[in-house]
Amino acid sequence: MLEIKNVTKVYRTKGGVDTKALDDVSIAFPETGLVFLLGKSGSGKSTLLNVCGGLDEPTSGEVIVKGKSSKSFSGSDFDSYRNTFVGFIFQEYNVLDEFNVEDNIALALELQGKPKDKEKIHKLLCDVELENFAKRKPNTLSGGQKQRIAIARALVKEPQIIMADEPTGALDSATGKQVFDTLKKLSETRLVIVVSHDREFAEIYGDRIVELKDGKILTDVTKTNVPPQAIDDNVTVIGGNTLNIKKGSKLNKDNIKAIQDFVLSCDGDVIITKGEKQIDSFKKANRMDDDGATETFGDTKSEDIRLRQYSKEDSKFIRSRLPAGKAIKIGASGLKLKPIRLIFTIFLSLIAFTMFGLFSTLMVYDGDSVAKNSFMQSGYDFINLSKMYETRITNSYDGRDDYTYQSYSFVKFTENELSDFTKTYGESTFGYYAYDTELDNVKMKNEKGGYYQAGLSKFAYIAPANAMRNKVTGDYPASLNEMCISKYLAEVLLTANSDVYAVKEDDKGNISYETKVDINSVNDVVGKTVVLNLRGDRQKFKITGIFDSGEIPKKYD
Ligand code: ADP
Ligand code: MG
Repeated sequence: MLEIKNVTKVYRTKGGVDTKALDDVSIAFPETGLVFLLGKSGSGKSTLLNVCGGLDEPTSGEVIVKGKSSKSFSGSDFDSYRNTFVGFIFQEYNVLDEFNVEDNIALALELQGKPKDKEKIHKLLCDVELENFAKRKPNTLSGGQKQRIAIARALVKEPQIIMADEPTGALDSATGKQVFDTLKKLSETRLVIVVSHDREFAEIYGDRIVELKDGKILTDVTKTNVPPQAIDDNVTVIGGNTLNIKKGSKLNKDNIKAIQDFVLSCDGDVIITKGEKQIDSFKKANRMDDDGATETFGDTKSEDIRLRQYSKEDSKFIRSRLPAGKAIKIGASGLKLKPIRLIFTIFLSLIAFTMFGLFSTLMVYDGDSVAKNSFMQSGYDFINLSKMYETRITNSYDGRDDYTYQSYSFVKFTENELSDFTKTYGESTFGYYAYDTELDNVKMKNEKGGYYQAGLSKFAYIAPANAMRNKVTGDYPASLNEMCISKYLAEVLLTANSDVYAVKEDDKGNISYETKVDINSVNDVVGKTVVLNLRGDRQKFKITGIFDSGEIPKKYD
């Protein structure tokens, strides 16, 4: 069933120190029987059990299960092996407090993909004498009761091997005895491997004792029955100087002679007693049965271990699976037990997510596109853009640098910037730009009682051409020195009528202002020429049309 060959297990600790917990250990286990792993603390018992049970993988060597070597194991085969063939019993019971007794046992079934079998669970609880405890939570049970639950849980999947690591370590000796009695009974039909440091229990209950020291096998002994040496039917010699007279027998002359000879052959005193109680405990201590056969331990021989031949079918593993709901319950219970940690975790997560959100926003933040999107969402048909630079001049007064003069100067958009606008706002962008008109800073009252901001200067006008085309009165500009002006500007000119002069141009192209021009309606503006002072360079533009830029929103009045 189970065999390990040349198994070495090395633990590498943080300091880089290697601990050889198992050093080239080979053991073949029998099909049934109770095998004790004995040894001092740190001798490697638990490691050996864990390797045998597939809880831990060997560093080198192999574990052979039903003829299948761990060398041919893949991925989760160790888990599956354990799940299929091994029932574990731990010192700390490892029963889950979140589930009641019945569900703890059912969980072992569900791990094998089998349904919860109430009848079977009830029978197992009867076996461990806890039939009335099915609905109890483990934290209401004593240590001995919990360990028996753990045994019932190990048994529910009918494992062919039971492994127990110091199963009675946390129990008093009377309760411990019950556990061993149970294990002894179970070992009649399956292999039971028990880790213990209690030699007395090992010798009473064990069929075989493997003693470890420093990760190596020190001794490996198997219990054998030594039959008594019969002198005749009534009198037998057991061991060196113990004579057994069968209970209730009538001694004849030959018997008495034999007893006499035996007494003479013994060194030291011979006590003949008829205290039955004492004799019973003497027999027990010397592990003697009623017929006087004694149990002794002799070196384990390979004949003692009958290994079966296994087919591929025998070593088929059942993959372990934990139902999602149960997994979540087990996982979440950890949080419930540590509320401070839970709060702290939530707090840290919040900070982490906030930081993540903030930084990812900052990283993708693009001011231009945010501005663009907000204009578009506000439903503007067009917007005015201007460009300026800031100048800061710090003046010293009385040696103190405390006066800062700040000014803004307007500058012309470059060709690149203009083509960027086109790219950003689409092919249909229409635009012109103007600086320093004669109308600069004229503020005039409009009919509504508000003021027109007459400054024609320093802004570029950008609007979708399509949006304008249908709204132009007059002609669309056809050359660079023609332009349409907005109805708003035309109204400004109309209002400022008294300040509008005609421009006269001489042969050399010099421009002078002459007669006042009468503008009596908005449409009178069309056909007129305006002079714009572009950074000291005067340029003429013929107004070919007026476009209706719509009502000026109230809030700008
Ligand atoms: P036992 O069960 O006989 O008391 P163990 O098998 O638990 O002994 O341990 C054997 C040796 O291996 C000890 O020296 C122990 O310190 C070491 N050991 C066991 N488990 C680990 C581990 N997970 N990491 C590092 N060293 C370990
Ligand atoms: Mg141990």
